[in-house]
Amino acid sequence: MKGAYYEGNKRFSVGESKIVPPGPGEVRMKVAYAGVCGTDLHIYLGHMDQRVKVPQVVGHEASCEIVDVGEGVTDFKVGDHVVLRPTDACGKCPTCERGDINVCPSINFIGITSPGAFQGSWTVPAHLLHKLPASINMVHAALIEPLAVACHDVRFGEVTDKDYCVVIGAGPIGVLEALVCREKGARVVMSEVNPARVKLVAEMGFEVVNPAETDLVKYVMDATGGDGADVVFEVTGSQAGAEMMTKLPRTHGRIVIVAIFAEPKMIDLRTILWREYTVVGARNYVKQDYEEAIRLVASGNLPLDKIVSDVRPIDRVQETFEQIASGSANFMKVLFSCSD
Ligand SMILES: [Zn+2]
Ligand SMILES: [Zn+2]
Repeated sequence: MKGAYYEGNKRFSVGESKIVPPGPGEVRMKVAYAGVCGTDLHIYLGHMDQRVKVPQVVGHEASCEIVDVGEGVTDFKVGDHVVLRPTDACGKCPTCERGDINVCPSINFIGITSPGAFQGSWTVPAHLLHKLPASINMVHAALIEPLAVACHDVRFGEVTDKDYCVVIGAGPIGVLEALVCREKGARVVMSEVNPARVKLVAEMGFEVVNPAETDLVKYVMDATGGDGADVVFEVTGSQAGAEMMTKLPRTHGRIVIVAIFAEPKMIDLRTILWREYTVVGARNYVKQDYEEAIRLVASGNLPLDKIVSDVRPIDRVQETFEQIASGSANFMKVLFSCSD
């Protein structure tokens, strides 16, 4: 079985996947499918070279089957279908003691600082696994990690069936947030400038506004009788998004910051004060977000096939990252089939 190794300088090599026997508390898994995340793209572009020691197998969004079980592992057995929660927290610091394991300052993110999922054989700590019901198809299961991000974000937005939600940015996380909001019974509008993404989310049945063509503020105000949105998700990381997010909520509305902003942006603090907004950051996920994501995938209600743009062998890793980085292919989510 093969593995894709990030070598630095926008290069991947394809080699053998190392068979690492599971130590105590670990399992070895066969990776079925692994998705390319924005984080993997940042690694490819060299933005995270201080954290990634090369050559390194990256990737962390995967569906897997257990093939070997280390000493002391009792919750899992060979043949189980599982997904990994790749955030391995220290468990000892004040943040972890409060239960906030997603934001532990010394978190080990598997697939960044240790070997990841773009390989056929993957050995990981068993305490980070979640078992999948047999009914879940493994292509869909590869979307559980980003869906858990969306579940976490929507939970922090306290979204209910009475809410009018705006998601600024229709990339994979934005679309999954919109799906989770819709599952909660909320009304959702997406804002997106890329025409291919506008088309895709419209096909998924979402109201979508291209703010380059339509006045989004007027659209939201007209739709809410001049009141404004209950919850706004900022998923673009852009200055335009940072400015837009304070223009859309009602008084006492909520803003959830999801995008990873590369540098500080100007935001309208006066409006946050004046209209008494709640602004929260939301990052990663905890166990309950994974459990909700698994439940949602198992329900079969989500149009996940629409999100998967392509499934391809690991041999095409270099070409795939070049296509994503150049924007030439308009992918939503590409998966590698890792067990070929
Ligand atoms: Zn990811
Ligand atoms: Zn910790």
